[in-house]
Amino acid sequence: MLNLYTSRTPKSRILFEENKNYMPYGVSSNYRYFDPYPIYLTKGKGSRVWDVDGNEYIDFNLGFGVLEVGHANERIIEEVDNAIKEGSILGFEYCKTGKLAKIISQRYKLDMVRFSSTGTEATMHAIRFARAYTKRKKIIKFEGHYHGSHDQLLVNVNPLKPGSKVPSSLGIPEEVIANTIVTDWNDIESFEKVANENVAAVIMEPVAMNMGLIPTDEDFLKAVFDLSKEKGFLVIFDETKTGGKFYSGALGYFNVKPDLVILGKAIAGGLPLSVIGGKREIMELIGPGKVAHGGTFNANPLSVRASIVTLTEILTESSFYYMHRLSEMLERGYREIAEDLGVELSVYRWGPSGSIYFSPKVPRNYKEFISIDFSPWFTYFYTTLAKGVIPMGGFNEEWTVSIKHTEEDIRKHLEAAEEGIRKAKEIKTNMPIDESF
Ligand code: PMP
Repeated sequence: MLNLYTSRTPKSRILFEENKNYMPYGVSSNYRYFDPYPIYLTKGKGSRVWDVDGNEYIDFNLGFGVLEVGHANERIIEEVDNAIKEGSILGFEYCKTGKLAKIISQRYKLDMVRFSSTGTEATMHAIRFARAYTKRKKIIKFEGHYHGSHDQLLVNVNPLKPGSKVPSSLGIPEEVIANTIVTDWNDIESFEKVANENVAAVIMEPVAMNMGLIPTDEDFLKAVFDLSKEKGFLVIFDETKTGGKFYSGALGYFNVKPDLVILGKAIAGGLPLSVIGGKREIMELIGPGKVAHGGTFNANPLSVRASIVTLTEILTESSFYYMHRLSEMLERGYREIAEDLGVELSVYRWGPSGSIYFSPKVPRNYKEFISIDFSPWFTYFYTTLAKGVIPMGGFNEEWTVSIKHTEEDIRKHLEAAEEGIRKAKEIKTNMPIDESF
């Protein structure tokens, strides 16, 4: 199976051999590595990316969900080009940041916001804000949910043996995660057992998107909000991914009001920008001599201007309608392929994103997810890559459609997927699944 990949990517192999002398695994984020060596890309345009061997791919990973505006979007290029001529970092606050803060506050119904650059920084600060506000220590997270690469939440992200608490990296001392409580997603009973008066906050991906894509049980969500009110802890929505899937993110989709919300990825059209926002009485604790929040690159002019353009001109209601419609075509196509080929394949789509499982039903939580045999998935993945389609970023990721994808792109995706799924019926590709990120 792997020679489908290696025969088309000799220059990526050479780069990997060189780069790994200077960078562990030859990459700058563990997520970019896959066996036998990672792919090195040269450029992107619209729905496409190209690798160093000149292969063209229709890209449904889109920078792990960032590029709903499409690669090298003309309007973003124009705006960033104008912005950089006036300075990329000004040090003190940029005059347009307030305008963006207002746009985001209104769109996501947040009282106040602060900006950071990445999802990692935003979730790290959000739990600090929650602890400062509640004067409590414990944070509940869900198994299989990912909130970035900082120690306190890098726990049970993808354990090979689910159920008992385990850091998702070497180098995280027990003491550092002593106040992190892990429980099961979509499971009211398990949540009730840990939800008590010592808890500062529960943080969640309101739709889980780092164990494939898993539907949220709305009764469960309601129980979490009810218990948070009863016991006095905060609800934090980590909408780093979900925030860009519907016009007002998951909080708009479910029509709920979390205490704190994190946005990232898609909101700045490909530039680094994240948001921590929420209720005024919590946000007003931030400030000199009170709760710390800082960052040299926070709300830099390039990201701010790209985000204003993204949110006001590009990711409009009609763009979401378009992306959702194409994504629905993919969903339907996958179901038809499964039926035609008689393969036990389940599909779940939420807005512009979706995922497939070589399993008769979509998992409800991490335990069900990790019990799936992923060897057919890897056969499917390497086959689609060889056919010029990046179907999603990994076995625990999802597809995303951009405004630049066309119906023709969807047809090509499904053609490649059909071949991948047919092969997966016969050939298993056993790849190592690592516990740490
Ligand atoms: N939270 C969620 C839900 C994410 O999916 C991610 C990244 N995939 C992060 C946080 C971390 O974001 P970043 O990589 O920008 O630090």
